[in-house]
Amino acid sequence: MNWLSSLLRRTRARLDRWLHRPYRTLIVQESLPRKLRRKIVYVVEEDGFVEQAAVLCPCGCRRVLHMNLLADERPCWRLTRHDDGTTTLHPSVWRTTGCGSHFWFRRGRVEWCRPQ
Ligand SMILES: [Zn+2]
Repeated sequence: MNWLSSLLRRTRARLDRWLHRPYRTLIVQESLPRKLRRKIVYVVEEDGFVEQAAVLCPCGCRRVLHMNLLADERPCWRLTRHDDGTTTLHPSVWRTTGCGSHFWFRRGRVEWCRPQ
C-alpha cells in the first residue's frame, strides 16, 4: 500500500497549499458583484479612484466587510498593491459587532490579532 500512502501525502500537500493560498485581488468597476467569493479581495474603482475594498469575513460568518479607501471619509484604509498581485490593507480590520473578527490583511493573507 505504498502507492496509497504516497498518494495521500501528495493530496494532503496539495490541499494544504490550496487552503493557504493568498487572496486574489479583483478590481471591479463601480460596484461589487451581488455575491462575493472566498479568498478574493474586491477593489471597487470608479473614475480611476479606488473607493473601497471588500472581502467575505475570513472567520466564515459570511458577512461582507467593506473598507473605505477614500481619504476624505472615515474610517479609511490604505491599500497597497504588490508586484505578485497580492494586496495589503492598513490599518487592521476589526468588526466591533457580530463575530468580532480582528485581523491584519498583509500580502493577501489574514493574520489574526488573537487566536481564533
Ligand atoms: Zn466573521
